[in-house]
Amino acid sequence: MEKKDLDWANLGFGYIKTDKRYVSNYKNGAWDDGALVDDANIVLNECAGVFQYAQTVFEGLKAYTTEDGHIVCFRPDLNASRLADSARRLEMPVFPEDRFVDAIVELVKANAAYVPPYGSGATLYVRPYMMGTNPVIGVKPADEYQFRAFVTPVGPYFKGGAKPLTIRVSDFDRAAPNGTGMIKAGLNYAMSLHAIVTAHADGYDENMYLDPKTRTKVEETGGANFIFITKDGKFVTPKSDSILPSITRRSLMYVAEHYLGMEVEHREVYFDELKDFAEAGLCGTAAVISPVGKIVDHGKEICFPSGMTEMGPVIKKLYDTLTGIQMGRIEAPEGWIKTIC
Ligand SMILES: *Cc1c(COP(=O)(O)O)cnc(C)c1O
Repeated sequence: MEKKDLDWANLGFGYIKTDKRYVSNYKNGAWDDGALVDDANIVLNECAGVFQYAQTVFEGLKAYTTEDGHIVCFRPDLNASRLADSARRLEMPVFPEDRFVDAIVELVKANAAYVPPYGSGATLYVRPYMMGTNPVIGVKPADEYQFRAFVTPVGPYFKGGAKPLTIRVSDFDRAAPNGTGMIKAGLNYAMSLHAIVTAHADGYDENMYLDPKTRTKVEETGGANFIFITKDGKFVTPKSDSILPSITRRSLMYVAEHYLGMEVEHREVYFDELKDFAEAGLCGTAAVISPVGKIVDHGKEICFPSGMTEMGPVIKKLYDTLTGIQMGRIEAPEGWIKTIC
């Protein structure tokens, strides 16, 4: 298979139209067979549920080329089950989890020419999503839905290495207590846009959201979970019902315990504890781990001992181990790597 003529090393993180996308429609209580299609555009009624009441959920994962030349993706079964959880919370029908994985395999195979070569640092980002498609004007769930997935090649998240981030404590909340913070839905992102635009304007890379009820505990950023390393080398990550359960974070917990022999604590993390940690990072599919150098709470700075120039040593080890597993350089736990071709 001939690769597309793209400048792999200099791709950004943006949309590039590829050859095929996967579409399946839900009508009269059942999903159709689904198919790969050429048309990148969707035509919907002006009153479609997704436009009126934001009934839409999504996923994000990556396909990439391993050291031995296979195209694989990482734990797509977890994306399937998380999309199912998200759909249930928004009263949408579940797209069957085995069909989700099959659709991703078919989709990536059909766009194999867009999967960046091993060592380029670039990957093929896969975006599955679902939306209510029939007209809805009274507030209720739609009756008809579309499941869709497309791919787009994306460059290395950090060009020229991962520089530690400066994060501010946001005055806005990301999720309500007993709300929808734990699902991957566009509605959680729409309301975060103002907070991130103003954070950037004020010179910060990201927002740290605190728990909305007491504002004393660390939750996450707009799109990544937090991990912390204590001075005695423990892995600590916040636990809360309103945090999105990151697959990267769950994988890192396993890597920390079973590959690096670290003690792992998944628990409530109070903001007041942060000053005692040795290293901090953000984790998610896009960057795997981004180191955090500084957290600013209304002018009061918490500077991690790992500094502002590079990843701390423990986070670096976690990063190298997880990316090594993903790229096929380190043996993966059973079922983590889905070989596509
Ligand atoms: C997608 C997402 C993450 C990261 O999850 P991964 O499965 O690791 O990519 C973290 N927080 C939020 C709010 C997200 O939407």
